Amino acid sequence: MIYSKPMRTPFVAANWKMHEPPVGAFVPESPYRSVEAIDIWVFPSFLDLHSARDHGLIVGAQCGRPDSQGAFTGDISMRMLADQRIQAVLCGHSERRLHHKEDDIMVAAQAIAALEAGLHPIVCIGETAQQRLEGKNKNIVRAQLEAIIPILTSSDLIIAYEPVWAISGGNADLPAATPSDAQEMHAYIRSLLPTERQEKIRIIYGGSAKPENALALCREPDVDGLLVGGASLDPASFGHIVEAVMDAKGIS
Ligand code: PEP
Repeated sequence: MIYSKPMRTPFVAANWKMHEPPVGAFVPESPYRSVEAIDIWVFPSFLDLHSARDHGLIVGAQCGRPDSQGAFTGDISMRMLADQRIQAVLCGHSERRLHHKEDDIMVAAQAIAALEAGLHPIVCIGETAQQRLEGKNKNIVRAQLEAIIPILTSSDLIIAYEPVWAISGGNADLPAATPSDAQEMHAYIRSLLPTERQEKIRIIYGGSAKPENALALCREPDVDGLLVGGASLDPASFGHIVEAVMDAKGIS
């Protein structure tokens, strides 16, 4: 493993999706730079991974293929990512599940291959608006976790609870996700982890995290940090989010 911390070190991830790196991301005082007490990792497009890495940021890919090589046009394997000194990979982001039809079996294969290659898989789980409205949220999340049972023994795994209805500004049929919504599900997820991993595997929250809600979200005891999409594209906003997470976790 290239970079590893044993316990629940606070963690903030910037998912830049299909955007250019924000102006100011690569300056020496960049808010995207990881520091000792808090892990800050960025997830640029494949094209910007090297540049971000060479500017000293800790980088992860937004997806990767489990097969080590082969006739998979357009894909990049977990092993190839690890060979490029990439630290981590998102597995099963809801946009991949939606637009690329990645299911729980594929997501599990990705996460297992990522660990085998020496990457930290950040496995994204979470229910859709419809599933929440039908009261199925915990069942869905439990099934998504059960799909990755073989790797729940690894502290290198990071779980991102991202209720799909809360991503990118939320859903008109549901109120915004509250810190207590996040805490309730994070505590549930933690309770499903093997006992000896419950204080080691980090569970971060994603879904319209911003400077205004980061402090309250991260004051919740089972929220170990944030996966930030839209607000991570603005260095000032992202910097405020990092400060709020540090404040919430008592880091000076
Ligand atoms: C995401 O896509 O992982 C995400 C959390 O996005 P946003 O912060 O924009 O809701």
